[in-house]
Parts: sequence; C-alpha cells; structure tokens
Amino acid sequence: MSVAQFLATKHPTAFSFEVLPPVRGKSIEQVFKTIERLLPFNPAYVNITTHRTEVVYREVSAGVFQRTTERTRPGTVAIAAALKGRYGITTVPHMICSGYSRSELENELIDLSYLGITDLLVLRGDRAKGENRFTPENDGHAHAIDLCHQVERFNEGLMLDGSEHEALGDKFSFGVAGYPEKHEEAMNIETDIEHLKAKVLAGAKYVVTQMFFDNKRYFDFVERCRKAGITVPIIPGIKPLTTLSQQTLLPKTFHIDFPMELSTEFSRCHSNDDVKALGVEWAIAQARELKQAGVPSIHFYSMNAAAGVEAIAKAVY
Ligand code: FAD
Repeated sequence: MSVAQFLATKHPTAFSFEVLPPVRGKSIEQVFKTIERLLPFNPAYVNITTHRTEVVYREVSAGVFQRTTERTRPGTVAIAAALKGRYGITTVPHMICSGYSRSELENELIDLSYLGITDLLVLRGDRAKGENRFTPENDGHAHAIDLCHQVERFNEGLMLDGSEHEALGDKFSFGVAGYPEKHEEAMNIETDIEHLKAKVLAGAKYVVTQMFFDNKRYFDFVERCRKAGITVPIIPGIKPLTTLSQQTLLPKTFHIDFPMELSTEFSRCHSNDDVKALGVEWAIAQARELKQAGVPSIHFYSMNAAAGVEAIAKAVY
C-alpha cells in the first residue's frame, strides 16, 4: 500500500520517521539499528533523506588543494531498497532537484521502478553550501513543482525525450514539503501556500511539514491551507531536541521559532543530556496534542535522535 493509499484509509494517528544515509564510507549498520529500535512501534513508513553533491577541497600535497565534488551521504535509493527488503516496510526516498540534472532524475525513477519503490517525497533540496541563492543544475529543475511534473510525465509513460516507455512498475505516488512558519525564501506565507497548492495540483498526494515547536503554528497553517483549497493530508513534522547547539542552529537553519516557554527551558539546560530530556518532554506534549486533534500521522525528524523518538513513541503510541 502506498503512503497516499494508507493515509486515505481510516486509521489512528500513524507514526513515521526519517533516516539519513550514512556519511560516505560509513556502514549501514547504524541505519539498521535505528530502524530496529523504532520498528516495534509499527511505523507506517520510513523516509530516507537525500543529500546534494557539494564542492570539497582535498589537500593533495602540503598546501596544495584539489577542488572536487562529492556526495557526502550517498545511497538513498540503495538504503530504501535495503530497508524494504530486510524489514518489508514501505520506504519513501526523497528526490531532490539540487545537484541533479533531469536525466539523472529520470535514471533514478527507472532504478526505483525496477526496485518496486514507488513512494517519493519530492523536494527542491537546499542550495549549495556557500551559495546565497539556489542555482539549479544545467538541465536541472528550479523548483520542486518541476520535478512533480517530471514524475507525473514518467507516470504517463513518457521519457524526457518524448519517447514512450512501457510500464516499468506501479505508478509513483508522492508527497511534498510545507512550511508552517513560511519557507525562508518566500515573500510571504500566502505566496508560499499558493506555491504549495500548485505542487498539490501537480500531483502531490500529501504534505509533510517542516519541524515546528509550537503546535499553534501547525494548526494555523492547516487552516490557511484549507482556506486556500488544499485538501490533501498535512502531516506534522516533529523534531526532538538533542544538543545545546540547536538553541541557535535550528532557528538559523530552518527559520523557525521556539515558543517562549521552550526557549526559557532551553536556556536552563547545561548539557546535551538536559536538552535531550527537555526535547523528549516537549515532543511528547506536542505529539499528544496533535494525536488528540486527529492528525493523520506524525513524522519524526529522528536524525541522531532514535533514543528520543523511541521514548516519545512509547509515551504516545
Ligand atoms: P519549493 O517547493 O521549490 O519551494 C522553494 C521556495 O520557492 C519557496 O519559497 C516557495 O514558495 C518558492 N516557490 C515554489 N514554487 C515556485 C515557483 N513556481 N515560482 C517561484 N517561487 C516558487 N532537503 C534536502 O536537500 N534533502 C532532503 O532529503 C530534504 N528533506 C526534507 C523533508 C521535509 C519534510 C522538508 C519540510 C524539507 C526537506 N528538505 C530536504 C529541505 C528542502 O529541500 C528545503 O527546504 C528547500 O529549500 C525547499 O524545498 P521545497 O521542496 O519546499 O521547494
């Protein structure tokens, strides 16, 4: 069953989480450990993030650097297949425009079709480190909606060059990202929601939100989306706090606010362990309220926080 089909069924608030591919050269064991820790809570599906190619400078001899490009966390498609094969769980690889040309994306769709993986989260991806605005690849996409169109054309049996392909497997079904506190580049929340609506009209079956720490932001966002005519499920994204550095890092990176009560508590933390305890407590309260409100599913940003997500799932599910 695809994520979209699952969301269309009558079900209690479901549970999903995302894993990051290991850093280049590291073993997949850590991913398996995370999955095995969280499988007992019966996740409806697991997302696998994708990370763009970045420019890196390698020192080839004393003081001499070579400029090269490297994907620091390769393996999204392979991990999606490995988790599906090993645990029989629905996997949702993220597909991003940044760092990919259209033909590379088409190749990925072909690989995924052969693997029988047809759930996707379609995203633009972040700008390259050091760039102050997003630059698509030559022959790449500027926005997530362009990739939504590419996936839908592929679903109709059309390759990029206009030729027809035979049915390679089931059709792809995908979700997209939404931002309760507005995407950083959007001129205002209304425009951002119009762009979100366009992605839904381009075929997205559901929305997963950026993390937020104040449920009111999510409820307001859902209300605005409904008023704008977006009717698909909107899945809230929750991140358990884990480190002292996140006090400044999360607002800066994701353009989100901590509500006053959380920021006061955060300021009283003296160690990462204090933050972890606060993060679990806060996320449990958030998840309980969201569950009570009948949200279709809760998506946990579990990066480096499997233990926290486990504690939250124990308390909430
Ligand atoms: P878009 O929908 O393209 O929106 C980007 C900006 O452009 C917004 O301001 C929007 O309002 C505007 N816009 C949209 N369409 C148009 C248009 N047609 N004309 C003009 N403006 C437009 N990043 C990764 O690199 N890898 C991941 O695995 C990953 N996973 C994520 C998972 C979730 C649930 C979320 C919420 C984000 C994730 N991201 C990931 C981050 C995401 O890629 C960034 O937030 C990125 O900056 C925007 O992606 P988007 O898909 O929302 O882009």
